[in-house]
Parts: sequence; C-alpha cells; structure tokens
Amino acid sequence: MQMLRIGELVVSRFRGSCERPKPVAKESEMAPSSRILAVGGVLASLIVLITANARPPARARQLLPIPDRLVVLTFDDGTKSDVAYVAPMLKQYGFGASFYVTEGLRDIKGEDDALTWDDIHKLNSMGFEIGNHTETHPDVTTLTKQQFTEELEGIENRCKHYGIPLPTTFVYPGYSFNIQAAEVLLGKGYLFARRGVSPEYPDSGDGGRGPVYDPAKDHPLLLPTTGYSGPKWGIGDLVWAVEQAKNGKIAILNFHGVPYPRAPWVTTDPAVFARYMKYLAKKGCTVIAMRDLAKYVEPATASRIPLRRPEGTSTSGNSSHRPPHLDQRLSVPRLSDRRGLNEFPTRTILHVGL
Ligand SMILES: [Zn+2]
Repeated sequence: MQMLRIGELVVSRFRGSCERPKPVAKESEMAPSSRILAVGGVLASLIVLITANARPPARARQLLPIPDRLVVLTFDDGTKSDVAYVAPMLKQYGFGASFYVTEGLRDIKGEDDALTWDDIHKLNSMGFEIGNHTETHPDVTTLTKQQFTEELEGIENRCKHYGIPLPTTFVYPGYSFNIQAAEVLLGKGYLFARRGVSPEYPDSGDGGRGPVYDPAKDHPLLLPTTGYSGPKWGIGDLVWAVEQAKNGKIAILNFHGVPYPRAPWVTTDPAVFARYMKYLAKKGCTVIAMRDLAKYVEPATASRIPLRRPEGTSTSGNSSHRPPHLDQRLSVPRLSDRRGLNEFPTRTILHVGL
C-alpha cells in the first residue's frame, strides 16, 4: 500500500496542481445499460477485494537487481558545456544523466557561460533529468526551513513556467548539507539528493574520491559522491570509482563545466572527459540519471533508513579548513530586473562553484 501512495505522490508532482479531475456522470444521468455495467463493476470490485484479502499482499513495485558497474552521472551549476558538449556525447553512448540547475553563480559563470531556460528545456527534451540546485546557490546550513523552501520553489516555479517536469532530485550547493534541509526535501516529496565526499573522505575542494553509495546504509536524501572531477581527480580515480560499484553498491560521479574556465578547481578538460565516457562504455557500465535510481532502490518517500548525519570526521564544504577559494562568501542583493518570476531577500551565497 505504501508503494501505491508513493506512486501517486510522484505522479501528482509531475501533473501539477492546476489540472482538474475529469467529471464523472451521476447514476441518474446514465443510460440503463450503463447502470447494469456500473452494478457489475461494483460486484467485480467486491470479488477482487475478497480475493485480495485471501492472499498475501503483492509488492506494488518490483525493484530491479542492482547490476555491477551501475554509475550515476551528475552535472552541477548549469554551464553552457552541458548542452553544447556533454549532452550530445552522452546521447551517442546512450547514457542517462542529471543536470542540476541554479540561477546563482552568475558572477562565476557570467551570462555567456550560464545555461538559458531554453537550453535547460532542450536538455529535458533530449531525455535528461533536470534537477534542483536551488535558486541562488546558498549554503543551505545557513537557511531557515522557510528560506530553503523558497530556494527550492524558485527552480520549481521556473520548471513549471517552461514546461519542464518538477524536479524530484536535488544536489546540495557547495556540498554543504544538514538534516534540516533533508527534512524539507522529504516534506516536499523529493526522492534523492546528493551531497559531497565528506565527512567520510577529506575534501580538498579540487576534486577527489568519496564513498560508494550503499543503498543498505545511505539515506536517499544524503547520497554520497563517489568521485568529483577537478585538478585532483583523474582517470585512475574514475577506474577506482567504477571498481567500487559492485555487490549492490553504486558509483555516483559529479562533474561541473566541461570546461568551467572561471572555476578551475572543478573544471574538466573536454578531451579528458571524452576519455572518461569512453572508459565507462568500454567497461559496459550502466549509466543513469539520479531519478533512475528509483528503479533499483527505495526512494526517500519509502526508505526505512534513518535520516541522520553520516559518520566521519573529514571536513565538509562549509569548514574553515578548506582552501581559500571555498571561503568566498558574499551577501548580495537580488537583481529583480533579471529574475522575473519571484523575489528573494538578500542572503548568504556560497560562491564556490561546487
Ligand atoms: Zn553547485
């Protein structure tokens, strides 16, 4: 029964709240033949109910077995290379992927390197997932529940406006996360959310290894990053990540711009990226978007894993030990002239491009 409820939830998120249910004819308006059919339908329903009670309840949704070398591809921040370079290459290989978009980071990306909503619409039309990376790219640990909700709804409203399905997955900006934010995501029906490599692994802020996703242990709204591309992450780390993806565990990879000229700490050279994708294809990896995890594991709305902070001692993206470029926090007024859809108050923005 729980699974049916989840199915309804997912459907209702995609359908939107404006759509009205179709009217049903009253019994008095029905033709006699329709009444006979209606009575027959009720009897049939009763028989189904009685029969169903006599058997053990069947699973509403069958999960697929998790294959070895299952890899989730995620791209953060919404830079032009997503649509100009990455997406066409992924289509050639038949890979799935998720693109996490934000209206923030304009001072890093510049208008010339930021995806437009037409670009985002195109990525969606190509079959890729559009995920929520917040409206302004803030440090979510500094936000109230209400402020975080507004950040999510900024992107949700834009998706609605541009005819893109409401996001069901999320990535924490700058890898900075807390349980309060995960609770907000759960309340809004989000299915999966990805954090960074810490606290299990140290995060230099320049690319690195992280834990493989273990569906028996990791909460769906606190998925770890198994590897994120940057100067300190290369082909050897990709090979390592894929090797971890076995025995029911899943590798989750994270890229930013390919390239990302104004955020060199998380940039990926296009030729090197091409080599990475070729390797995934050669190894016969199953490469999917984050939303597709729901085929293999229970999403947050059905998970029995407790929502608590992962164990580990390494510093996360919001630590004072991180490199100087990770401490560039600014408080900037919203530019209402380019926003159009809704207003946001002044708040702390995490200008780290992660
Ligand atoms: Zn980001």
